[in-house]
Amino acid sequence: MIKKEELRLLLDLQELEINIKKLEKLIQKLIQEEVELRKQLAHVEQEEATLLLELKKLDDEIRQTNQEISICMEGIKRAEERLSKVRKAQEYKALLREKARYEDCVIKLKDQLKLLQAERKQKEQTYKNQKKNLEVKHRELKEKLEEISLESELTKGKLEQLKQERNKLINHIPEHALREYENLKSSLELPVIVPVVSFGACGGCGMKLPSSLYSKVMLGEVVICPNCARLIYYEA
Ligand SMILES: [Zn+2]
Repeated sequence: MIKKEELRLLLDLQELEINIKKLEKLIQKLIQEEVELRKQLAHVEQEEATLLLELKKLDDEIRQTNQEISICMEGIKRAEERLSKVRKAQEYKALLREKARYEDCVIKLKDQLKLLQAERKQKEQTYKNQKKNLEVKHRELKEKLEEISLESELTKGKLEQLKQERNKLINHIPEHALREYENLKSSLELPVIVPVVSFGACGGCGMKLPSSLYSKVMLGEVVICPNCARLIYYEA
């Protein structure tokens, strides 16, 4: 039998525990949100890094092509120098062929360079456009993360406070009442102590109470719901 005095303490405990559950759920939700945001942030950073890498790769290719052009130009110069000194017709022809090969190489490489430079220009434009979007997104995500971290801290503080209140309260509740409450909690969702609602129904499952139980409740007794086993009281 739960007495009136015990009922009040148990109701206080129940309210604290419902609030503790709510805060614990909120913390879980915030943790998930943070994980999701961090994933998005990593994705944005990855996108930016990929673009930069592509630009760098093009720069390397352009540099290398320029080097190859210089090598071919030197080849042309060397062939020209030797051409001015050579006497034999056969050697002269061979040098002309060598020079032509280098010239060919320069033409091809310069075409290649133009293509690379055009590609680089385009990619740089893409990068510039994207960078602005990415920066905005980056900033937004960071702000949201800060908000979440703040909310999380506050929630944890409140939770700690409620848990302390709960521990204090428990010391004032007689053992048999606490045991009954804990027993109910092991098989039912909170709340396990509910008021009788309009027309004599259980505030937990909604079933109408038999009139004998209803009159007991109305007289101030705490009764057990025959359907869901919750404790029912009358809220004056
Ligand atoms: Zn019930």
